[in-house]
Amino acid sequence: MGKKGREIVGESVDELINLLNRALADEWLAYYQYWVGSKVVVGPMKGEVITELTEHAADELRHAEMLVARIMQLGGTPILTPEEWTKLTNCGYDTPTDPDVKKILEQNINGERCAIEVYRKLMEKTKDIDPITYEMVLGIMRDEVEHEDDLQSLLEDLERVKY
Ligand code: FE
Ligand code: FE
Ligand code: MG
Repeated sequence: MGKKGREIVGESVDELINLLNRALADEWLAYYQYWVGSKVVVGPMKGEVITELTEHAADELRHAEMLVARIMQLGGTPILTPEEWTKLTNCGYDTPTDPDVKKILEQNINGERCAIEVYRKLMEKTKDIDPITYEMVLGIMRDEVEHEDDLQSLLEDLERVKY
């Protein structure tokens, strides 16, 4: 890690690394929840829903990569064990026990709402001390807002389908 690059973030760098690791835990769990959800989902509009869930899974994995890159740039260590995913997560993991398309969409919408809140707080935290992380977090948040909107649109369309 570049000394000056870490220095400009100031004393709160370790706290920031911890928050980024917590977001990393969220992204991994979100990735898996989308990925496994896309495998088990059943019901109307299944094809479209699978496409969207698969795309979102890829986005969450990309977010995880962005977070790891920044954690390491700041001199931190990314979480190294799966146990830490559930220990550090802000948003938890909503098990898709019920594979019904509506239920899966609702679970993932809740996840996106939580993610938006997590990144809003991270933006608040970094806005005066770390423009690089701020910009990255803004980009991720833009995706999460789009994710929520995409899933909600699907749910609205689904509600117009006559079972
Ligand atoms: Fe994400
Ligand atoms: Fe998302
Ligand atoms: Mg989408």
